[in-house]
Amino acid sequence: MAKQPMLKFVNVDRDMPQKRSAETRKEDFHEIYAEFSATKAEEQASRCSQCGVPYCQSHCPLHNNIPDWLRMTATGRMKEAYELSQATNTFPEICGRICPQDRLCEGNCVIEQSGHGTVTIGAVEKYITDTAWENGWVEEITPGKATGEKVAIIGAGPGGLAAADVLVRAGVSVTVYDRHDRAGGLLTYGIPGFKLEKDVVMRRVELLERAGVAFKLNCNVGEDVTFADIHKENDAVLIATGVYKTRDLQGPGGGAAGIVNALDYLTCSNRTDFGDKVAEFESGELNAEGKKVVVIGGGDTAMDCVRTAIRQGATSVKCLYRRDRANMPGSQRETQNAEEEGVEFVWLAAPKGFAGDPVTGVMVQKNRLGAPDASGRRSPEVIEGADYVEEADLVIKALGFEPEALPTLWNEPDLPVTRWGTVKAAFETHKTDMDGVWAVGDIVRGASLVVWAIRDGREAGANILATLSERAAVAAE
Ligand SMILES: Cc1cc2nc3c(=O)[nH]c(=O)nc-3n(C[C@H](O)[C@H](O)[C@H](O)COP(=O)(O)OP(=O)(O)OC[C@H]3O[C@@H](n4cnc5c(N)ncnc54)[C@H](O)[C@@H]3O)c2cc1C
Ligand code: SF4
Repeated sequence: MAKQPMLKFVNVDRDMPQKRSAETRKEDFHEIYAEFSATKAEEQASRCSQCGVPYCQSHCPLHNNIPDWLRMTATGRMKEAYELSQATNTFPEICGRICPQDRLCEGNCVIEQSGHGTVTIGAVEKYITDTAWENGWVEEITPGKATGEKVAIIGAGPGGLAAADVLVRAGVSVTVYDRHDRAGGLLTYGIPGFKLEKDVVMRRVELLERAGVAFKLNCNVGEDVTFADIHKENDAVLIATGVYKTRDLQGPGGGAAGIVNALDYLTCSNRTDFGDKVAEFESGELNAEGKKVVVIGGGDTAMDCVRTAIRQGATSVKCLYRRDRANMPGSQRETQNAEEEGVEFVWLAAPKGFAGDPVTGVMVQKNRLGAPDASGRRSPEVIEGADYVEEADLVIKALGFEPEALPTLWNEPDLPVTRWGTVKAAFETHKTDMDGVWAVGDIVRGASLVVWAIRDGREAGANILATLSERAAVAAE
Protein backbone atom coordinates (compact mmCIF):
# COMPACT_ATOMS: atom_id res chain seq x y z
CA MET A 1 0.00 0.00 0.00
CA ALA A 2 1.27 3.52 -0.85
CA LYS A 3 2.60 5.43 2.14
CA GLN A 4 0.16 8.08 3.47
CA PRO A 5 1.85 11.43 2.75
CA MET A 6 -0.53 13.59 4.78
CA LEU A 7 -2.09 13.87 8.29
CA LYS A 8 1.32 14.14 9.94
CA PHE A 9 0.09 16.67 12.48
CA VAL A 10 0.15 14.11 15.27
CA ASN A 11 3.91 13.57 15.01
CA VAL A 12 5.17 16.73 13.31
CA ASP A 13 4.99 20.00 15.24
CA ARG A 14 3.97 23.28 13.68
CA ASP A 15 7.00 25.26 12.57
CA MET A 16 7.34 28.65 10.91
CA PRO A 17 10.20 29.66 8.62
CA GLN A 18 13.13 30.98 10.60
CA LYS A 19 12.68 34.52 11.87
CA ARG A 20 15.76 36.76 11.87
CA SER A 21 16.81 37.85 15.35
CA ALA A 22 15.42 41.19 16.49
CA GLU A 23 18.95 42.60 16.74
CA THR A 24 19.72 41.82 13.09
CA ARG A 25 16.37 42.71 11.57
CA LYS A 26 16.25 46.12 13.30
CA GLU A 27 19.18 47.14 11.11
CA ASP A 28 17.38 46.98 7.75
CA PHE A 29 14.04 46.93 5.93
CA HIS A 30 14.29 43.38 4.60
CA GLU A 31 11.61 40.80 5.36
CA ILE A 32 12.04 39.15 8.71
CA TYR A 33 11.13 35.57 7.77
CA ALA A 34 13.47 33.35 5.75
CA GLU A 35 12.09 30.95 3.14
CA PHE A 36 11.22 27.37 4.10
CA SER A 37 13.73 24.83 2.83
CA ALA A 38 12.14 22.34 0.40
CA THR A 39 12.18 19.60 3.06
CA LYS A 40 10.64 21.88 5.67
CA ALA A 41 7.88 23.02 3.30
CA GLU A 42 7.04 19.41 2.43
CA GLU A 43 7.05 18.45 6.10
CA GLN A 44 4.85 21.34 7.19
CA ALA A 45 2.41 20.83 4.29
CA SER A 46 2.15 17.14 5.22
CA ARG A 47 0.57 18.11 8.55
CA CYS A 48 -2.72 18.97 6.76
CA SER A 49 -5.60 16.67 7.74
CA GLN A 50 -7.21 16.95 4.25
CA CYS A 51 -10.66 17.77 5.64
CA GLY A 52 -13.64 16.87 3.46
CA VAL A 53 -15.10 20.29 4.25
CA PRO A 54 -11.99 22.50 4.55
CA TYR A 55 -12.76 25.44 6.84
CA CYS A 56 -9.44 27.05 5.86
CA GLN A 57 -10.70 27.27 2.27
CA SER A 58 -14.10 28.65 3.19
CA HIS A 59 -12.47 31.30 5.41
CA CYS A 60 -10.01 32.36 2.72
CA PRO A 61 -11.66 35.27 0.86
CA LEU A 62 -10.35 33.79 -2.41
CA HIS A 63 -11.50 30.26 -1.52
CA ASN A 64 -8.02 29.02 -2.35
CA ASN A 65 -7.84 25.28 -2.86
CA ILE A 66 -5.57 24.97 0.18
CA PRO A 67 -5.78 21.21 0.99
CA ASP A 68 -4.93 20.31 -2.62
CA TRP A 69 -1.91 22.59 -2.92
CA LEU A 70 -0.70 21.46 0.48
CA ARG A 71 -0.90 17.86 -0.72
CA MET A 72 1.01 18.72 -3.93
CA THR A 73 3.70 20.44 -1.84
CA ALA A 74 3.95 17.52 0.58
CA THR A 75 4.52 15.16 -2.33
CA GLY A 76 7.07 17.38 -4.10
CA ARG A 77 4.75 18.26 -7.02
CA MET A 78 5.66 21.94 -6.80
CA LYS A 79 4.74 23.04 -10.30
CA GLU A 80 1.25 21.61 -9.92
CA ALA A 81 0.99 23.20 -6.47
CA TYR A 82 1.84 26.54 -8.08
CA GLU A 83 -0.67 26.09 -10.89
CA LEU A 84 -3.45 25.33 -8.43
CA SER A 85 -2.49 28.17 -6.14
CA GLN A 86 -2.34 30.83 -8.88
CA ALA A 87 -5.65 29.68 -10.38
CA THR A 88 -7.58 31.40 -7.59
CA ASN A 89 -5.16 34.11 -6.46
CA THR A 90 -3.62 36.84 -8.62
CA PHE A 91 -0.81 37.50 -6.10
CA PRO A 92 -0.36 34.36 -3.94
CA GLU A 93 3.16 35.22 -2.75
CA ILE A 94 1.90 38.60 -1.53
CA CYS A 95 -1.03 37.10 0.41
CA GLY A 96 1.26 34.41 1.83
CA ARG A 97 3.39 37.22 3.26
CA ILE A 98 0.83 39.69 4.57
CA CYS A 99 -2.62 38.14 5.07
CA PRO A 100 -3.56 38.06 8.75
CA GLN A 101 -3.75 34.27 8.52
CA ASP A 102 -4.67 33.94 12.19
CA ARG A 103 -8.01 35.63 11.39
CA LEU A 104 -8.56 33.87 8.04
CA CYS A 105 -7.37 30.47 6.76
CA GLU A 106 -5.11 29.40 9.64
CA GLY A 107 -7.52 30.67 12.28
CA ASN A 108 -10.02 28.10 11.01
CA CYS A 109 -7.68 25.14 10.58
CA VAL A 110 -9.23 22.08 12.21
CA ILE A 111 -6.00 20.73 13.62
CA GLU A 112 -5.44 24.06 15.36
CA GLN A 113 -8.83 23.62 16.97
CA SER A 114 -7.84 20.14 18.16
CA GLY A 115 -4.78 21.63 19.89
CA HIS A 116 -2.03 20.61 17.44
CA GLY A 117 -1.18 24.05 16.05
CA THR A 118 -2.40 25.23 12.66
CA VAL A 119 -0.84 24.25 9.34
CA THR A 120 1.41 27.16 8.30
CA ILE A 121 -0.72 27.87 5.24
CA GLY A 122 0.55 31.39 4.52
CA ALA A 123 4.23 30.40 4.69
CA VAL A 124 3.61 27.44 2.35
CA GLU A 125 1.66 29.63 -0.09
CA LYS A 126 4.59 32.07 -0.17
CA TYR A 127 7.04 29.21 -0.63
CA ILE A 128 5.08 27.73 -3.56
CA THR A 129 5.02 30.97 -5.59
CA ASP A 130 8.53 32.11 -4.65
CA THR A 131 9.69 28.68 -5.91
CA ALA A 132 7.69 29.22 -9.11
CA TRP A 133 9.39 32.60 -9.70
CA GLU A 134 12.83 31.07 -9.06
CA ASN A 135 12.16 28.24 -11.50
CA GLY A 136 10.68 30.40 -14.24
CA TRP A 137 7.20 28.84 -13.94
CA VAL A 138 5.50 32.21 -13.58
CA GLU A 139 4.60 32.82 -17.19
CA GLU A 140 4.20 36.10 -19.02
CA ILE A 141 0.56 37.20 -19.20
CA THR A 142 -0.73 36.50 -22.70
CA PRO A 143 -3.19 39.20 -23.74
CA GLY A 144 -6.30 37.86 -25.45
CA LYS A 145 -7.25 38.75 -29.03
CA ALA A 146 -8.02 42.49 -29.02
CA THR A 147 -11.73 43.13 -28.53
CA GLY A 148 -11.49 46.86 -29.24
CA GLU A 149 -13.06 47.61 -25.84
CA LYS A 150 -11.46 50.06 -23.44
CA VAL A 151 -11.55 49.95 -19.65
CA ALA A 152 -10.09 52.56 -17.31
CA ILE A 153 -9.08 51.63 -13.78
CA ILE A 154 -8.58 54.41 -11.25
CA GLY A 155 -6.15 53.22 -8.60
CA ALA A 156 -3.19 50.84 -9.04
CA GLY A 157 -3.55 49.04 -5.69
CA PRO A 158 -4.24 45.29 -5.39
CA GLY A 159 -7.93 45.75 -6.32
CA GLY A 160 -7.18 47.65 -9.52
CA LEU A 161 -4.26 45.40 -10.51
CA ALA A 162 -6.24 42.18 -9.98
CA ALA A 163 -8.97 43.52 -12.28
CA ALA A 164 -6.39 44.66 -14.86
CA ASP A 165 -5.00 41.12 -14.94
CA VAL A 166 -8.43 39.62 -15.72
CA LEU A 167 -9.25 42.22 -18.36
CA VAL A 168 -5.97 42.23 -20.28
CA ARG A 169 -6.05 38.43 -20.55
CA ALA A 170 -9.43 38.81 -22.29
CA GLY A 171 -8.09 41.22 -24.92
CA VAL A 172 -9.48 44.43 -23.43
CA SER A 173 -7.37 47.57 -23.66
CA VAL A 174 -6.69 48.61 -20.04
CA THR A 175 -5.43 51.94 -18.73
CA VAL A 176 -4.65 52.25 -15.02
CA TYR A 177 -4.50 55.75 -13.54
CA ASP A 178 -2.69 56.44 -10.27
CA ARG A 179 -1.66 59.64 -8.52
CA HIS A 180 1.55 58.06 -7.27
CA ASP A 181 4.70 57.66 -9.36
CA ARG A 182 4.73 53.89 -8.85
CA ALA A 183 1.92 51.36 -9.09
CA GLY A 184 0.98 49.00 -6.24
CA GLY A 185 -1.09 51.25 -3.96
CA LEU A 186 -0.55 50.45 -0.30
CA LEU A 187 1.51 47.38 -1.29
CA THR A 188 4.11 49.86 -2.55
CA TYR A 189 3.79 52.93 -0.33
CA GLY A 190 1.90 51.75 2.79
CA ILE A 191 3.17 48.33 3.85
CA PRO A 192 6.87 48.44 4.82
CA GLY A 193 9.57 46.26 3.25
CA PHE A 194 10.06 44.21 6.43
CA LYS A 195 6.59 42.71 5.75
CA LEU A 196 6.66 42.84 1.94
CA GLU A 197 9.81 43.62 -0.02
CA LYS A 198 9.25 46.04 -2.87
CA ASP A 199 10.66 43.92 -5.69
CA VAL A 200 7.96 41.31 -4.93
CA VAL A 201 5.36 43.94 -5.86
CA MET A 202 7.25 45.52 -8.74
CA ARG A 203 7.79 42.27 -10.64
CA ARG A 204 3.98 41.80 -10.67
CA VAL A 205 3.46 45.33 -12.00
CA GLU A 206 6.09 44.67 -14.68
CA LEU A 207 4.25 41.50 -15.80
CA LEU A 208 1.12 43.59 -16.36
CA GLU A 209 3.08 46.28 -18.18
CA ARG A 210 4.63 43.73 -20.51
CA ALA A 211 1.15 42.34 -21.22
CA GLY A 212 0.15 45.78 -22.50
CA VAL A 213 -1.59 47.36 -19.50
CA ALA A 214 -0.97 51.13 -19.80
CA PHE A 215 -0.10 52.86 -16.52
CA LYS A 216 -0.76 56.60 -16.33
CA LEU A 217 1.15 57.46 -13.17
CA ASN A 218 1.49 60.83 -11.42
CA CYS A 219 -2.07 61.38 -12.61
CA ASN A 220 -4.51 62.48 -9.94
CA VAL A 221 -8.04 61.90 -11.23
CA GLY A 222 -10.10 64.95 -10.33
CA GLU A 223 -7.07 67.24 -10.79
CA ASP A 224 -4.97 66.18 -13.78
CA VAL A 225 -7.85 64.58 -15.66
CA THR A 226 -11.57 64.64 -14.96
CA PHE A 227 -13.59 61.56 -14.06
CA ALA A 228 -16.14 62.70 -16.68
CA ASP A 229 -13.53 62.52 -19.46
CA ILE A 230 -12.38 59.06 -18.39
CA HIS A 231 -16.01 57.91 -18.20
CA LYS A 232 -16.77 59.28 -21.66
CA GLU A 233 -13.69 57.80 -23.34
CA ASN A 234 -14.02 54.24 -22.00
CA ASP A 235 -16.51 51.39 -22.22
CA ALA A 236 -16.23 50.83 -18.47
CA VAL A 237 -14.56 52.48 -15.47
CA LEU A 238 -13.44 50.75 -12.31
CA ILE A 239 -12.91 52.87 -9.19
CA ALA A 240 -10.25 51.31 -6.92
CA THR A 241 -8.94 54.34 -5.11
CA GLY A 242 -8.65 53.03 -1.54
CA VAL A 243 -9.23 55.16 1.56
CA TYR A 244 -6.81 57.93 2.43
CA LYS A 245 -8.49 60.54 4.64
CA THR A 246 -6.72 60.30 8.00
CA ARG A 247 -8.88 60.20 11.13
CA ASP A 248 -7.68 63.11 13.22
CA LEU A 249 -7.13 63.73 16.90
CA GLN A 250 -8.98 66.33 18.91
CA GLY A 251 -7.18 68.24 21.64
CA PRO A 252 -5.01 71.33 22.13
CA GLY A 253 -1.61 71.59 20.47
CA GLY A 254 -2.53 69.21 17.62
CA GLY A 255 -1.10 71.55 14.97
CA ALA A 256 2.45 71.57 16.40
CA ALA A 257 5.47 70.70 14.30
CA GLY A 258 6.57 67.11 14.85
CA ILE A 259 3.02 65.68 14.80
CA VAL A 260 2.62 63.76 11.56
CA ASN A 261 0.22 61.40 9.80
CA ALA A 262 1.06 57.70 9.63
CA LEU A 263 0.71 57.38 5.88
CA ASP A 264 2.93 60.42 5.14
CA TYR A 265 5.51 58.87 7.42
CA LEU A 266 5.28 55.36 5.91
CA THR A 267 5.19 56.62 2.31
CA CYS A 268 8.34 58.65 2.94
CA SER A 269 10.08 55.65 4.49
CA ASN A 270 9.03 53.36 1.62
CA ARG A 271 10.33 55.90 -0.89
CA THR A 272 13.72 55.96 0.82
CA ASP A 273 13.61 52.14 0.75
CA PHE A 274 13.33 52.43 -3.06
CA GLY A 275 16.42 54.66 -2.99
CA ASP A 276 14.53 57.92 -3.66
CA LYS A 277 15.79 61.14 -2.07
CA VAL A 278 12.90 62.58 -0.05
CA ALA A 279 13.22 66.14 1.26
CA GLU A 280 11.09 65.49 4.37
CA PHE A 281 13.31 62.56 5.29
CA GLU A 282 16.54 64.48 4.73
CA SER A 283 15.23 67.44 6.78
CA GLY A 284 14.26 65.13 9.65
CA GLU A 285 10.55 66.02 9.44
CA LEU A 286 9.58 62.42 8.60
CA ASN A 287 12.62 60.66 10.03
CA ALA A 288 12.69 59.09 13.50
CA GLU A 289 16.47 58.94 13.82
CA GLY A 290 17.61 60.08 17.27
CA LYS A 291 14.06 60.92 18.36
CA LYS A 292 11.69 59.90 21.12
CA VAL A 293 8.78 58.61 19.08
CA VAL A 294 5.20 58.15 20.23
CA VAL A 295 2.78 56.40 17.88
CA ILE A 296 -0.93 56.72 18.62
CA GLY A 297 -3.18 53.82 17.60
CA GLY A 298 -3.48 50.05 17.97
CA GLY A 299 -4.02 48.77 14.44
CA ASP A 300 -1.71 47.35 11.79
CA THR A 301 -0.75 50.83 10.55
CA ALA A 302 0.45 51.72 14.05
CA MET A 303 2.48 48.48 14.17
CA ASP A 304 4.10 49.35 10.84
CA CYS A 305 4.97 52.85 12.12
CA VAL A 306 6.55 51.73 15.39
CA ARG A 307 8.67 49.12 13.64
CA THR A 308 9.73 51.61 10.97
CA ALA A 309 10.77 54.10 13.68
CA ILE A 310 12.91 51.41 15.35
CA ARG A 311 14.67 50.75 12.03
CA GLN A 312 15.28 54.45 11.45
CA GLY A 313 17.19 54.62 14.74
CA ALA A 314 14.72 56.26 17.16
CA THR A 315 16.06 56.54 20.72
CA SER A 316 12.75 55.23 22.09
CA VAL A 317 9.46 54.11 20.53
CA LYS A 318 6.23 53.97 22.49
CA CYS A 319 2.81 52.98 21.23
CA LEU A 320 -0.18 54.50 23.01
CA TYR A 321 -3.42 52.58 22.73
CA ARG A 322 -6.66 53.43 24.52
CA ARG A 323 -7.72 49.83 25.16
CA ASP A 324 -5.63 46.85 26.34
CA ARG A 325 -3.72 44.21 24.42
CA ALA A 326 -6.64 41.77 24.24
CA ASN A 327 -8.86 44.44 22.71
CA MET A 328 -6.50 45.92 20.14
CA PRO A 329 -7.42 45.58 16.44
CA GLY A 330 -3.85 44.96 15.21
CA SER A 331 -2.46 41.48 14.63
CA GLN A 332 -1.00 39.79 17.72
CA ARG A 333 1.83 38.45 15.55
CA GLU A 334 2.88 41.96 14.52
CA THR A 335 2.56 43.25 18.10
CA GLN A 336 4.87 40.50 19.29
CA ASN A 337 7.34 41.30 16.50
CA ALA A 338 7.26 44.96 17.55
CA GLU A 339 7.90 44.09 21.19
CA GLU A 340 10.82 41.87 20.27
CA GLU A 341 12.29 44.79 18.32
CA GLY A 342 12.11 47.08 21.37
CA VAL A 343 8.77 48.89 21.10
CA GLU A 344 7.11 49.71 24.41
CA PHE A 345 3.30 49.49 24.48
CA VAL A 346 1.44 51.82 26.80
CA TRP A 347 -1.99 50.23 27.14
CA LEU A 348 -5.13 52.02 28.27
CA ALA A 349 -3.64 55.39 27.38
CA ALA A 350 -5.27 58.04 25.19
CA PRO A 351 -3.94 61.44 24.07
CA LYS A 352 -5.87 64.49 25.22
CA GLY A 353 -3.51 67.12 23.84
CA PHE A 354 0.07 67.94 22.97
CA ALA A 355 2.76 70.00 24.71
CA GLY A 356 5.20 72.34 22.91
CA ASP A 357 5.69 73.49 19.34
CA PRO A 358 7.71 71.71 18.04
CA VAL A 359 6.06 68.99 20.07
CA THR A 360 7.76 67.94 23.33
CA GLY A 361 5.17 65.57 24.71
CA VAL A 362 1.74 63.98 24.54
CA MET A 363 -0.72 64.74 27.34
CA VAL A 364 -2.05 61.32 28.21
CA GLN A 365 -5.16 60.32 30.06
CA LYS A 366 -5.32 56.83 31.53
CA ASN A 367 -8.30 54.55 31.03
CA ARG A 368 -9.84 51.45 32.50
CA LEU A 369 -12.06 49.12 30.49
CA GLY A 370 -15.83 49.26 30.86
CA ALA A 371 -18.67 47.36 29.15
CA PRO A 372 -18.34 46.08 25.55
CA ASP A 373 -19.37 48.50 22.76
CA ALA A 374 -21.24 47.70 19.52
CA SER A 375 -18.10 46.03 18.06
CA GLY A 376 -17.92 43.68 21.08
CA ARG A 377 -14.72 45.30 22.34
CA ARG A 378 -14.72 46.77 25.86
CA SER A 379 -14.99 50.56 25.87
CA PRO A 380 -12.35 52.65 27.59
CA GLU A 381 -13.42 54.80 30.57
CA VAL A 382 -11.25 57.65 31.89
CA ILE A 383 -9.50 57.31 35.28
CA GLU A 384 -9.75 60.79 36.79
CA GLY A 385 -6.53 62.30 38.15
CA ALA A 386 -4.18 59.85 36.43
CA ASP A 387 -3.11 62.16 33.55
CA TYR A 388 0.57 62.53 32.73
CA VAL A 389 2.85 63.76 29.93
CA GLU A 390 4.64 61.25 27.71
CA GLU A 391 7.80 62.85 26.30
CA ALA A 392 8.03 62.88 22.52
CA ASP A 393 9.72 64.78 19.73
CA LEU A 394 7.97 62.89 16.93
CA VAL A 395 4.31 61.94 17.26
CA ILE A 396 2.75 59.73 14.59
CA LYS A 397 -1.04 59.60 14.32
CA ALA A 398 -2.19 56.15 13.19
CA LEU A 399 -5.90 56.20 13.91
CA GLY A 400 -7.26 54.74 10.70
CA PHE A 401 -8.52 56.02 7.38
CA GLU A 402 -11.77 57.14 5.85
CA PRO A 403 -12.83 57.61 2.24
CA GLU A 404 -12.27 60.90 0.53
CA ALA A 405 -15.45 62.64 -0.67
CA LEU A 406 -15.26 61.40 -4.28
CA PRO A 407 -18.55 62.91 -5.53
CA THR A 408 -17.29 66.37 -4.46
CA LEU A 409 -13.65 65.91 -5.45
CA TRP A 410 -14.63 64.59 -8.86
CA ASN A 411 -17.65 66.84 -9.31
CA GLU A 412 -19.83 63.77 -9.82
CA PRO A 413 -22.87 64.20 -7.53
CA ASP A 414 -24.48 61.11 -9.09
CA LEU A 415 -21.73 58.77 -7.96
CA PRO A 416 -23.55 56.72 -5.31
CA VAL A 417 -21.92 56.71 -1.87
CA THR A 418 -22.98 55.41 1.55
CA ARG A 419 -23.38 57.66 4.57
CA TRP A 420 -19.76 56.79 5.48
CA GLY A 421 -18.58 58.07 2.09
CA THR A 422 -17.65 54.65 0.67
CA VAL A 423 -18.76 54.00 -2.91
CA LYS A 424 -21.97 51.96 -3.12
CA ALA A 425 -21.47 48.92 -5.33
CA ALA A 426 -23.39 45.66 -5.67
CA PHE A 427 -22.15 42.56 -3.88
CA GLU A 428 -20.27 40.18 -6.25
CA THR A 429 -20.77 42.20 -9.48
CA HIS A 430 -19.25 45.34 -7.91
CA LYS A 431 -21.34 47.45 -10.27
CA THR A 432 -22.49 50.87 -9.07
CA ASP A 433 -25.76 52.50 -10.07
CA MET A 434 -23.83 54.84 -12.36
CA ASP A 435 -23.84 53.57 -15.92
CA GLY A 436 -20.60 51.77 -16.84
CA VAL A 437 -18.97 52.28 -13.43
CA TRP A 438 -17.74 49.56 -11.05
CA ALA A 439 -15.91 49.93 -7.70
CA VAL A 440 -13.77 47.60 -5.57
CA GLY A 441 -11.49 47.32 -2.56
CA ASP A 442 -11.20 49.72 0.35
CA ILE A 443 -13.18 52.51 -1.34
CA VAL A 444 -16.20 50.18 -1.11
CA ARG A 445 -15.44 48.18 2.04
CA GLY A 446 -13.68 50.88 4.09
CA ALA A 447 -10.14 50.07 5.32
CA SER A 448 -9.87 46.32 4.80
CA LEU A 449 -7.34 43.77 3.56
CA VAL A 450 -5.29 43.09 0.46
CA VAL A 451 -6.89 39.67 -0.06
CA TRP A 452 -10.39 41.20 -0.15
CA ALA A 453 -9.26 43.82 -2.68
CA ILE A 454 -7.86 41.04 -4.87
CA ARG A 455 -11.11 39.10 -4.67
CA ASP A 456 -13.16 42.18 -5.53
CA GLY A 457 -10.86 43.04 -8.44
CA ARG A 458 -11.10 39.55 -9.92
CA GLU A 459 -14.88 39.49 -9.59
CA ALA A 460 -15.32 43.00 -11.00
CA GLY A 461 -13.04 42.16 -13.94
CA ALA A 462 -15.18 39.13 -14.74
CA ASN A 463 -18.40 41.12 -14.43
CA ILE A 464 -17.13 43.93 -16.65
CA LEU A 465 -16.26 41.32 -19.31
CA ALA A 466 -19.71 39.74 -19.05
CA THR A 467 -21.40 43.15 -19.32
CA LEU A 468 -19.30 44.20 -22.31
CA SER A 469 -20.05 40.99 -24.20
CA GLU A 470 -23.79 41.35 -23.44
CA ARG A 471 -23.60 44.91 -24.81
CA ALA A 472 -21.77 43.69 -27.92
CA ALA A 473 -24.39 40.94 -28.46
CA VAL A 474 -27.27 43.45 -28.21
CA ALA A 475 -25.50 45.83 -30.61
CA ALA A 476 -25.03 43.00 -33.11
CA GLU A 477 -28.75 42.07 -33.14
C1 LIG B 1 0.12 50.89 6.72
C2 LIG B 1 -0.80 49.82 6.24
C3 LIG B 1 -0.48 48.49 6.43
C4 LIG B 1 -1.32 47.50 5.97
N1 LIG B 1 -0.97 46.20 6.19
C5 LIG B 1 -1.75 45.22 5.69
C6 LIG B 1 -1.39 43.87 5.84
O1 LIG B 1 -0.37 43.55 6.45
N2 LIG B 1 -2.20 42.91 5.29
C7 LIG B 1 -3.33 43.24 4.60
O2 LIG B 1 -4.00 42.35 4.08
N3 LIG B 1 -3.72 44.54 4.47
C8 LIG B 1 -2.95 45.52 5.00
N4 LIG B 1 -3.34 46.82 4.85
C9 LIG B 1 -4.60 47.13 4.13
C10 LIG B 1 -4.39 47.00 2.61
O3 LIG B 1 -3.20 47.62 2.23
C11 LIG B 1 -5.58 47.57 1.85
O4 LIG B 1 -6.76 46.94 2.31
C12 LIG B 1 -5.45 47.35 0.34
O5 LIG B 1 -4.24 47.88 -0.15
C13 LIG B 1 -6.63 47.98 -0.40
O6 LIG B 1 -6.43 47.86 -1.77
P1 LIG B 1 -7.13 48.87 -2.80
O7 LIG B 1 -6.70 48.39 -4.15
O8 LIG B 1 -8.56 48.98 -2.49
O9 LIG B 1 -6.50 50.29 -2.48
P2 LIG B 1 -5.03 50.87 -2.31
O10 LIG B 1 -4.01 49.82 -2.09
O11 LIG B 1 -5.15 51.93 -1.29
O12 LIG B 1 -4.71 51.53 -3.72
C14 LIG B 1 -5.46 52.63 -4.17
C15 LIG B 1 -4.65 53.41 -5.20
O13 LIG B 1 -5.50 54.43 -5.73
C16 LIG B 1 -4.72 55.58 -5.93
N5 LIG B 1 -5.62 56.74 -5.96
C17 LIG B 1 -6.45 57.17 -4.98
N6 LIG B 1 -7.14 58.23 -5.40
C18 LIG B 1 -6.75 58.50 -6.67
C19 LIG B 1 -7.07 59.49 -7.62
N7 LIG B 1 -7.97 60.46 -7.37
N8 LIG B 1 -6.45 59.46 -8.83
C20 LIG B 1 -5.53 58.51 -9.12
N9 LIG B 1 -5.17 57.56 -8.24
C21 LIG B 1 -5.77 57.55 -7.04
C22 LIG B 1 -3.77 55.60 -4.76
O14 LIG B 1 -2.61 56.39 -5.06
C23 LIG B 1 -3.45 54.12 -4.61
O15 LIG B 1 -2.28 53.79 -5.34
C24 LIG B 1 -2.53 47.84 5.33
C25 LIG B 1 -2.88 49.19 5.16
C26 LIG B 1 -2.02 50.17 5.61
C27 LIG B 1 -2.41 51.61 5.46
S1 SF4 C 1 -4.94 34.18 0.44
FE1 SF4 C 1 -4.66 34.71 2.61
S2 SF4 C 1 -6.43 33.77 3.63
FE2 SF4 C 1 -6.25 32.79 1.60
S3 SF4 C 1 -4.94 30.97 1.92
FE3 SF4 C 1 -3.58 32.63 1.34
S4 SF4 C 1 -2.87 33.48 3.29
FE4 SF4 C 1 -4.72 32.28 3.74
